[in-house]
Amino acid sequence: EVRHELGDEGPKDAARQHLINPSEEMAKLGRSDRPLFTHADGIYVWDDAGRKLIDGPGGMWCTQIGYARREIADAIRDQAMTLSYNSPWYFVNEPAAELARRIAELAPGDLNHVFFTTGGSSAVDSALRFMQFYNNVLGRANKKAIICRIDGYHGSTQLTAACSGRAWNRPNFDLASDQIAFISAPNTFRRPRGMSEAAFLNFLVEEFRSKVAELGPENVGAFLAEPLLASGGVIVPPKGYHQRILEICRQHDILYISDEVVTAFGRCGHWFASEDVFDIVPDIITFAKGVTSGYLPLGGLVISDAVLGRISGENAKGSFFTNGYTYSGHPVSCAAALANIDVISRDRILEHVRETAPYFQERIGSLRDLPLIGDTRGTGLLGCVECVTDPSSEQATKLDAEMALRVDRECYEAGLIVRPISNMCVLSPPLIITREEIDTIVGILGRSIEKVT
Ligand code: PLP
Repeated sequence: EVRHELGDEGPKDAARQHLINPSEEMAKLGRSDRPLFTHADGIYVWDDAGRKLIDGPGGMWCTQIGYARREIADAIRDQAMTLSYNSPWYFVNEPAAELARRIAELAPGDLNHVFFTTGGSSAVDSALRFMQFYNNVLGRANKKAIICRIDGYHGSTQLTAACSGRAWNRPNFDLASDQIAFISAPNTFRRPRGMSEAAFLNFLVEEFRSKVAELGPENVGAFLAEPLLASGGVIVPPKGYHQRILEICRQHDILYISDEVVTAFGRCGHWFASEDVFDIVPDIITFAKGVTSGYLPLGGLVISDAVLGRISGENAKGSFFTNGYTYSGHPVSCAAALANIDVISRDRILEHVRETAPYFQERIGSLRDLPLIGDTRGTGLLGCVECVTDPSSEQATKLDAEMALRVDRECYEAGLIVRPISNMCVLSPPLIITREEIDTIVGILGRSIEKVT
């Protein structure tokens, strides 16, 4: 039995004794000093010590319109009292139907059909299962390999975790997945020494082309990529990267799945980033997080008419897409999403992000002169500072990650959450953030970096 006597502190003690958290440090099970949040409002959360904290990471890239918005609470309550549930296997509900229509309107190109899931992992998992189904219906039973990127993150199901290339997610999860292949992350900061940015872009594209050739194009079903690698450290690819990869996908009839779990619903100043920021119309887009601003769990994928047309109607060959969840298209989650989209539109939040992002990026960029900081980068309201103690090292070191943790602790004490990922401090604040609040964030971060250096 795992029990540790730490005294009864109410919910915090209950959490210690009984709750398993994501990213649980097993040596600390029962002893965790993880803060407990009590309430939140706007861009602020409060912890159980009474600290008021700016939500620097936007929860986990998701609190777009901020906390405690009455419009969302009302929509949730009203829908819960009207129709709290229906089986999506046999029936439809109004909020799911209306939300699918709205998302189809907002999504690029002919991406017009929406499948709802319960979050980001299930969205990507469903997109990959759809790829399998699609190629089987098309009679291409071998065309199922998935190419993804080192440092990408796509979720925590067996399949999506296997497609996530971050080394630190891997230990102790190693069930065989021989249909998944990796290519490099388009990380300009960590590109091979002495290689120009233009040469690096060519290298990345050629690496993808070679991987397709090595696997055999007839065996490759999908390329899976975030428009920018978020959890991998806000890695924004060189201009033209996505178009050139998409071109190769088109040549070989490989589905391009754009994982917009982080970037959709305003993070980069647009409903979706694939087309408006990165100039591509993929075959499938996955989304979650910002679709409800984190008020309720919801995710999904949008599939193009062109792709669906090949395996539906006369082309369906009697097939059923038997993939889904008890809570696919959950009416209350969908009602929250509709209210969220209304708030984003009414309050001109996308415009606000587009106006504010250059300032945010400039202020984050100003931290690059600090001795501990090796790189600063980002786009939209996503930013990252990377702690580098040894500029001669080609990889982040253990000490770099320790320094990021120390920066994080200083920030927390000063009233800012930054959530370090390895040696990187990542910011993706609620989209309603003002310039003054950006100054406060960057001020705290800068002072914290100076303090630990
Ligand atoms: N895809 C991306 C790009 C993500 O960043 C995440 C989560 O951070 C996921 C998928 C998984 O989403 P969820 O945690 O909602 O299952």
